[in-house]
Amino acid sequence: MMFEPDLKTAQALLADFIQDATSVVAFTGAGLSTECGIPDFRSPGGLWTQNKPIPFDAFVAHREVRNEAWRRKFAMDAAFSGAVPGRGHKALARLVANGRMSGIITQNIDGLHQASGVPDAALVELHGNGTYATCLDCGTRQELAWVRTQFEATGGTAPDCPHCGGPVKSATISFGQAMPQREMERAIELTQDCDLFIVLGSSLVVYPAAGLPAIARRAGANLVILNREATDLDPVADLVVRADIGDVLEPFCTEGG
Ligand code: NAD
Ligand code: ZN
Repeated sequence: MMFEPDLKTAQALLADFIQDATSVVAFTGAGLSTECGIPDFRSPGGLWTQNKPIPFDAFVAHREVRNEAWRRKFAMDAAFSGAVPGRGHKALARLVANGRMSGIITQNIDGLHQASGVPDAALVELHGNGTYATCLDCGTRQELAWVRTQFEATGGTAPDCPHCGGPVKSATISFGQAMPQREMERAIELTQDCDLFIVLGSSLVVYPAAGLPAIARRAGANLVILNREATDLDPVADLVVRADIGDVLEPFCTEGG
């Protein structure tokens, strides 16, 4: 059943859903961080329209593509490294701290859930983390500062692993790259064990992550979708709120909300 309420009604219904649940899980996407100044992919003017994501195979196959990937990465970091958590992040962090929310599964790589105080034990990062790099062949971690020094010293050439010569990549999951197995298992476990699954700011088109709401539904959980635009799963959700995440979650940021 789908029902689209106005803002005040949506806030009241959401509070009721959370109150009635014993285990709440949030599933977050790029829309959670747009109010922090980090563009999403698929909104008008989003990153997708400016730069098509680089597929994993192309990154591995061509140094020129790796050079381009690192050029973009350093340009993005310069623009977004000052971002701070928004109202959505703060509300979710508070629900976790209160014991109302058992976990947050995120597709985001911006580190803003951690910055809002969510402990690692309550957070699953499905698409990795952009704050460091790894060698794709031997797995050795490399700090971004090292990559950057090499990159700049060579006039913009992506560095290879000093141990094995393999390609060094930001520790995020690209299109076409295998999902991190342990994180995927943790996400499925949280999803199957919850009785309320709340989607926030995701277009729900990137699989396998976007398959989680259906898993929650099959396991009997209520499904709430909070997203500015329609998603394919709206028709099967118990509550659909097409509004700004920060506006909806504002009352949940403070005591009494
Ligand atoms: P997406 O760009 O496909 O969808 C974002 C959705 O959020 C859109 O449907 C949009 O309508 C909605 N939205 C945007 N701002 C909103 C707001 N303030 N309130 C309510 N809704 C809002 O994002 P996705 O589903 O997360 O998939 C994109 C992929 O790109 C993910 O895999 C993610 O890892 C990656 N990504 C991450 C970041 C980040 O870390 N912040 C940014 C861009 C892309
Ligand atoms: Zn290596």
